[in-house]
Amino acid sequence: MTAPSTESTATSAPGELERFGLFIGGQVVEAASGRTFESTNPYTGRSWAVLADGAPEDVDRAVASARAAFEGEWGQMSGFARADVLRRVATAITENAERLALLEVRDSGKLMREMRGQLQALGTWYSYFSGLADKIEGKTVPAVNPAAYFGYTLRQPVGVVGAITPWNSPLLLLTFKLAPLLAAGCTCVVKPSEHAPASTVAFAQVLHEAGLPAGVLNVVTGWDRSTGESLASHQGVDKVAFTGSTATGAKVAQAAVANINKVTLELGGKSPQVVFADADLDAAANGLVAGVFAATGQTCMAGSRLIVHESVKDELVAKVVERANAIKQGDPTADDTEMGPVANRPQYEKVLGYLDGARDEGWTIACGGEPNADLGGLFVRPTVVLADPTATIVKEEVFGPVLSAYTFTDEEEAVRLANDTPYGLAGAVWTKDVHRAHRVAARLQAGTVWINAYRVVAPNMPFGGFGLSGIGRENGSDAVDEYLENKSVFVELTGGTRDPFKLG
Ligand code: NAD
Repeated sequence: MTAPSTESTATSAPGELERFGLFIGGQVVEAASGRTFESTNPYTGRSWAVLADGAPEDVDRAVASARAAFEGEWGQMSGFARADVLRRVATAITENAERLALLEVRDSGKLMREMRGQLQALGTWYSYFSGLADKIEGKTVPAVNPAAYFGYTLRQPVGVVGAITPWNSPLLLLTFKLAPLLAAGCTCVVKPSEHAPASTVAFAQVLHEAGLPAGVLNVVTGWDRSTGESLASHQGVDKVAFTGSTATGAKVAQAAVANINKVTLELGGKSPQVVFADADLDAAANGLVAGVFAATGQTCMAGSRLIVHESVKDELVAKVVERANAIKQGDPTADDTEMGPVANRPQYEKVLGYLDGARDEGWTIACGGEPNADLGGLFVRPTVVLADPTATIVKEEVFGPVLSAYTFTDEEEAVRLANDTPYGLAGAVWTKDVHRAHRVAARLQAGTVWINAYRVVAPNMPFGGFGLSGIGRENGSDAVDEYLENKSVFVELTGGTRDPFKLG
């Protein structure tokens, strides 16, 4: 990224760069200030796009547009009609998957082979939630005094949702919010990360062209944090749905709660992979590689702590190191590339800082541990660090291709070490013992646990964190509830003859 400019481009010929505006009220518009900023492709190191640099005044416009849509056509629409729109949206996303995937690859260096699959799968979220949009029902509730009244409940949309998303997988993480909030009948203003903003603008256009009415989804991109801050603290917003780091999440929650707004937070993680001696070690090694090296380790659910039984540690670490050393790094758009660059320079420097710290603390680097000098740029070699539970690299989220490994002696210790973290997003248990698998899965303090697997998410399985990993759940049928109010209606049956001074 480069800092904002009132010129359209600072470092490249204008013809080379794609331009993205804000998306407000169904239209692409410039920032009110006219300012722009550039997005850098982390693989080429060159700017590839110019984005509108939205400011609080643009957030005001977007929130007003979302409010008007909520009070207008979208707010009046039946669940059946919303379901129909969501089905059309699902089809349109699949049709545009290739183009949208490429935007994310350019913005963040993610692999085209991964993003193509992810974007193809994204439509499933909208078709799943389309099936819930027409099933939002209240209850009739038996009265304490049935002769005097009866009661029923209404499930009504919360209103305007402010969504704030991070730079890794912007469209997937937006979809975790957007599909259920649209099913519920809410409208949305989204502020994508300044490090990967382009795909969200293009996505909003695709959804609008597929039939999502103007104003239901608005996008405000912006270079500095004032854009996100103004959305999180906006008095015209009814709920804030945030995905990002725990430190920022705490600020967003404070801003939202100051307005007594609802908030869901999907935050960081330091997820354990617990491998027992009886596990299939080849399958576990594959799961470890998928868990921590896929997406260059830049996933909230990265399985970044290997907690392995002491008797199989050397064998398992050798298998992981062999696989890590064989990972092909390079051009994210090439079909045979397995790991791309780190997504942006601040993150690259953060990852290298953690590796220097691990060396300074005296831990052994079993493989990697340094930039990939053959490729230059923002490439870090897949890294395995042999540490113990006290290491900084074991305790803190690196958000890069770094696995820390240490041992346990019995099941009790394995569970204790796995839970020895303030985070609680995900975890895995690897064993062939079915009793132990379920016993340990139940005891892990984490929102998602995989048994003999890693990194599977689905629209119909809840996702979210314990502890510092967040508040609330996305995905799953209950996710719609996160965007609904529950209203109680009492109906008087006696014709007004009841004692006015008596409660109930
Ligand atoms: P970040 O917290 O730096 O930024 C997230 C978003 O918040 C960005 O859009 C940013 O512009 C915005 N922002 C920054 N300061 C703000 C403020 N004061 N008020 C309002 N908005 C503000 O996170 P990141 O570096 O973009 O993403 C990486 C982090 O996200 C990691 O910690 C990762 O674990 C987490 N993450 C969590 C999940 C999950 O589902 N739990 C998924 C993906 C990423």
